[in-house]
Amino acid sequence: MSESRRFSASVAIVGGGPVGLGLAVTLGKAGVSCVLVESQPEPSAIPRGQNLSARSLEHFHYWGCASELRAARLLPPGFPIGGITAYQSLAGEYWYAPAGRETVADFYYQRNERLPQYLTESVLRNRVSELAPVTTLFGWSAASVRQDDDGVRVTAVQDTGAGRCEIAADYLVGCDGAHSLVREQAGIASGGADFDQRMVLAVFRSRELHERLERFPLRTTYRVLHPELKGYWWFFGRVDPAQTWFFHAPVRKDATAASLDAHALIERAAGFGVACDFQHVGFWDLRIDIADRYRHGRVFVAGDAAHSHPPYGAHGLNTGLEDAVNLGWKLAAVLHGWGGPGLLDSYTSERRPVFAGTGEAIIEGIAQDRAFLERYSPQRDRGEFELAWGGRTSGEVAPPSYEPHYEGSPIVWGPAGSVCGVRGHHSFGARAGHHLAPVVLSSGANIFERLAGGFTLIALGGDQGPAAAFQAAAADLGMPLQVIADTLDGQRVAYGQRLILVRPDQYVAWAGNDAPADAAAVLRRAIGAAASHHARAGTSPTGDDS
Ligand SMILES: Cc1cc2nc3c(=O)[nH]c(=O)nc-3n(C[C@H](O)[C@H](O)[C@H](O)COP(=O)(O)OP(=O)(O)OC[C@H]3O[C@@H](n4cnc5c(N)ncnc54)[C@H](O)[C@@H]3O)c2cc1C
Repeated sequence: MSESRRFSASVAIVGGGPVGLGLAVTLGKAGVSCVLVESQPEPSAIPRGQNLSARSLEHFHYWGCASELRAARLLPPGFPIGGITAYQSLAGEYWYAPAGRETVADFYYQRNERLPQYLTESVLRNRVSELAPVTTLFGWSAASVRQDDDGVRVTAVQDTGAGRCEIAADYLVGCDGAHSLVREQAGIASGGADFDQRMVLAVFRSRELHERLERFPLRTTYRVLHPELKGYWWFFGRVDPAQTWFFHAPVRKDATAASLDAHALIERAAGFGVACDFQHVGFWDLRIDIADRYRHGRVFVAGDAAHSHPPYGAHGLNTGLEDAVNLGWKLAAVLHGWGGPGLLDSYTSERRPVFAGTGEAIIEGIAQDRAFLERYSPQRDRGEFELAWGGRTSGEVAPPSYEPHYEGSPIVWGPAGSVCGVRGHHSFGARAGHHLAPVVLSSGANIFERLAGGFTLIALGGDQGPAAAFQAAAADLGMPLQVIADTLDGQRVAYGQRLILVRPDQYVAWAGNDAPADAAAVLRRAIGAAASHHARAGTSPTGDDS
């Protein structure tokens, strides 16, 4: 007879891939009880999302497992993370090594990293096991979810058939991937662009491929553009330094593991014969999908459950981890009693435009590559092709123009009329709605070592009066606020502001050179407690939106 159990927690999380695990760590560290249900007893052995951005590494820093993550990688420290783009095949005459995320490295406190997704998940599984507020049910699948005015209920079954349980919680977050049961049962619609394009994903070993690629500077990924591919890519990625690879490529709609000659396809993309020992051949359909909203009542979706797109640009996992951090601090704030009524809705307002912008940029990149390959050909006109090829840098969504920000958020004091999105530029200037850049304090510590789980007011330049007003207002609102006071000197001058209010996710909520007339109004908006959190333009407490 199967055993039936009951759990009760503040938050139920369905799906313990990287995003569900990241959310569980965020909540667990904030002291919020949660139960996480994950079907897979162990992480799946397919490498998938390997490129973790510098911003994602900041999350691992605050989750307390950045060094464990770096220790888990398969590539040696210092292995150059970046790509080669080649024309027609990896043996082709035309190629370049585009600048990658290293161009914006100084704007983040951590360096980026690359490791198979299953190792990232193992590090996160270890981390959640250390957090008392988190209960994990690995090898359990959510079968149904429902909500009413008082809370949510999740029914889950153990995959061995031995157990059944019910989880009662205040909130539910679906981190259950692209085919999300939570999204569907909560009635959250999802749609996007279907490219009607089937893709193969192969994982294989080949030392020979590694040796043949020694003609290029050492890199982790190799993208081939070919006129026949209509802007899609043949794509090789390293899993380890010398022999394991993954490869993805467009294939016919009816391709199956039995009908597709993956080896022949790899040799075509490589441009030379190469021995391959296959470990996995699978398929997926290229789509860009986004949930109409990320919240319905007490139910939220995050990561691939909220949005999915082809891995062009390596944004999926990184975007999902930012979802987890954004939603995590807001849920904790509401559950701890200081988050205002508008705070949870701001999760959709901030995160959905970021994904929408990422998806648009990916579609644009595919279209640009297609147009380039139709327009230019070395066979038709070598001189014209070489001129145009030389002018390319990348068809990817790459820095420095990719800068997710929340300028238009209802809980941020951004410029009037601004919107949230991904197009921007990195800067050391402290700007409302943007990621805070790391600078060194006069103590020698980096400011990121001093930011804590709550809000922080950075007060530069001596006058502590404004900081005291913020602290008094925070105390009235019952919200955590620490003050970091320092001189307006050294790297800190680059912030360009004397007073900077930083959120728990290291984004700037407000910045100004002068004390606001009403510090409480600044804070109320930042925690979603402004009387009308939708009214933004022209409502600066200083009279001029800073
Ligand atoms: C070839 C490839 C390369 C990629 N490269 C990159 C990259 O370099 N960088 C990047 O950022 N992204 C990359 N991605 C995307 C990345 O893999 C995904 O965005 C990421 O896995 C999303 O994480 P997630 O936790 O939201 O979803 P998932 O990883 O899909 O996890 C969802 C989890 O939910 C569980 N689940 C589902 N239903 C239930 C249920 N009913 N009950 C319990 N558990 C359930 C599943 O078992 C799964 O573990 C790549 C993807 C592919 C395919």
